Amino acid sequence: MTHNFYALVEATQRAGAARIAIETDDGKSFTGEDLLRGAERYGALLAAQGVTAGERVVVQAEKSVSSLMFYLACLRAGVVYVPLNTAYRESELRYFLEDATPKLVVCPPASLAQFQTLTTTPLLTLDEHGGGSLTDSASRDHVPAPAATVAPDDVAVIIYTSGTTGRSKGAMVTHRNLAANAQVLVRYWGMSAADTLIHALPIFHIHGLFVANHTALVSGAKLLWHRKFEAQRVLADMPRATLLMGVPTFYTRLLAEPGLDAGAVATMRLFISGSAPLLAETFTAFEQRTGHRILERYGMSEAGMITSNPLQGERRGGTVGLPLPGNAVRVADERDRALPSGEVGGIQISGDNVFAGYWRMPEKTREEFTADGWFRTGDVGTFDAQGYLAIVGRAKDLIISGGFNVYPKEIELVLDALPGVSESAVIGVPHTDFGEAVIAVLVPRSGASLVEAQIIAHLKTQLANYKVPKRVHIVNELPRNAMGKVQKNVLRQQYG
Ligand code: AMP
Repeated sequence: MTHNFYALVEATQRAGAARIAIETDDGKSFTGEDLLRGAERYGALLAAQGVTAGERVVVQAEKSVSSLMFYLACLRAGVVYVPLNTAYRESELRYFLEDATPKLVVCPPASLAQFQTLTTTPLLTLDEHGGGSLTDSASRDHVPAPAATVAPDDVAVIIYTSGTTGRSKGAMVTHRNLAANAQVLVRYWGMSAADTLIHALPIFHIHGLFVANHTALVSGAKLLWHRKFEAQRVLADMPRATLLMGVPTFYTRLLAEPGLDAGAVATMRLFISGSAPLLAETFTAFEQRTGHRILERYGMSEAGMITSNPLQGERRGGTVGLPLPGNAVRVADERDRALPSGEVGGIQISGDNVFAGYWRMPEKTREEFTADGWFRTGDVGTFDAQGYLAIVGRAKDLIISGGFNVYPKEIELVLDALPGVSESAVIGVPHTDFGEAVIAVLVPRSGASLVEAQIIAHLKTQLANYKVPKRVHIVNELPRNAMGKVQKNVLRQQYG
């Protein structure tokens, strides 16, 4: 028996082979049969290139249905798929190419010359329309090899974490991890062939590559494939859709569209957000405008989805919901002992969703697992009395000022509630006296003028003195990565 995650996709797509599985924003459509054929064709190419199960293929490519088919081909062949963020530049690429030791590399045609200086591994190209030498070679008459039989713990994908400190780590995600997470999410979010999901996320990251693709391909939902997120295009597609998965920025941009109202979302049944914290303000404003409470969930490259607000039952803003069925989640102290609800500690997890470790970093892997086998997510959080988890921040963003722990989120919530503030980030910077000093960086609402001294004076009435920022900087926008996460490391460098 095979535990190849591809078998789950194949079963659904085979059963609905004539149905449209994907429609693209440039007017093309692909049936389930097309996707499976594509996977077989690229799979035959992998075999012709001598790439066998367990070997790695590094892919840096723009989003296209061909890149999805190539991904499916890798799963099918048991070849380890290693996607790279399209924003990565030379020094980053050199590191990933050396670390992953791939058997084949796929890159954009425009980057071919650069890649040739970085690696001696065979290179094929894939452009944003799905063309290039990868597709040209796959079109020749290769005989499709049978799908590989894989064991549950065989690695399917290596995802490099964004790595804001030190070297980026390759999270080894197994076929078991992919299957467990896809199946639980399909059930938890009630997904079926009756759904149409707007997919406007990048596909080098777990949100777009796993969560959106896998749940649709395994449930038989149709994908409306947008090459990138544009609020107006997403809004225009909504009358044909039932689901949207997005990062918080999607929702703030949608709210800026005057056309977003209850009528515009009449066919939609669910809006899901994750990858970065959803501001309470966005949650509330979206509900007022559309009548929908955005369902926030929490996950990471190392574990897929971990918790989610429920489909039925209360969706609590400011929380990431309840542990998904089959996932164990605890909030623990420094000695890895579970803490009662209401207390703040490190979020630790175990279950079939948890990855197999960091590629070629056994030491790092050992450090991140507790003696009793739980994975330390590096996130800090707290459970409420009903079992909803709230994330307070990343452990490495925790500020220790004058010996006191300061959770940036607590201060950010107070700042965000100020009338002139659009959003905020609170960081710790080295300080001779306190070890670290609390600093706030604020983005004003349009037209509002913020005065540092007034803000500090206000915070002194709301927070213990050691939590009050020593300085408040006003900026036009916060630095964010491709997934909409605020890059606090960049702020620390700037203001440290
Ligand atoms: P990545 O591996 O790039 O998906 O990043 C995972 C990290 O994103 C997690 O460890 C969290 O710090 C953060 N994250 C994901 N979802 C949420 C969420 N809903 N709220 C707050 N942080 C989140």
